[in-house]
Amino acid sequence: MKKLLIANWKANPDSPGRAVALARKIEGKISLNRNVEIVIAPPFPFLGAVGKVLRKAKLGAQDSSWEDTGPHTGEVSWHQLKHLKISYVIIGHSERRQHLKETDEMVNLKVRALLKNGLRPVLCVGERFRHGNEIPPLVGEQLMKALASVPTPQAKNLVVTYEPVWAISTNSRARADTPDSAFRAKIYLRKILADLYGRRTAEVVPILYGGSVNAANIVPFLTEGRMDGALVGSASLQPDQFASIVRQTSQCD
Ligand code: PGA
Repeated sequence: MKKLLIANWKANPDSPGRAVALARKIEGKISLNRNVEIVIAPPFPFLGAVGKVLRKAKLGAQDSSWEDTGPHTGEVSWHQLKHLKISYVIIGHSERRQHLKETDEMVNLKVRALLKNGLRPVLCVGERFRHGNEIPPLVGEQLMKALASVPTPQAKNLVVTYEPVWAISTNSRARADTPDSAFRAKIYLRKILADLYGRRTAEVVPILYGGSVNAANIVPFLTEGRMDGALVGSASLQPDQFASIVRQTSQCD
């Protein structure tokens, strides 16, 4: 499976000029590679401008409403995103679940709307706290709830990211998870997908790792951890660092 790297810029940078400059720098430092798909997800107001400068990377979004157009003040619809040629949309990020009280039901509505309309949700699941080595059952519950009523033919367009909240770099005392634990999470999530949709479908769904990914730890996550790619936050705002992640990923098969 082709590796997938998704740059989650979150609410950065602070101006359209800086967003375009960052995208240009990244574009200048990465090279096209058949083994890796690169997606850059800037904030909504910069999607149009950043989209114009991307050639090697694809444009992604950080969220989407489940509604189409209509009376939904402040929302951005999947239909509008589709017009911008966006194919990947991050859904259910822990920062939205935690600070904006996004529920599993809302995540499910978003996942269903995107899949039904031909976009690929990058569904984030992950626990806030870890006690011991086991992947908490909550992670599986998040996945199952997000996928309620998703039909099998659509499920193959899903992307899942295992992103333990405690590992996200902006959290105090954050540290990346271990490749071994990420691998166990992958097996666990893939088993749920296989139970829901059968092995064939489960095997084509990329399962990414997110949480403090950087140029120094990407390779162990892809090799020992056998992850299908990564969701990269802070390190994606540093062009050299992100380009190094892309280069190293393209060398892992
Ligand atoms: P991080 O963020 O790479 O800065 O830990 C990842 C994310 O929150 O998507």
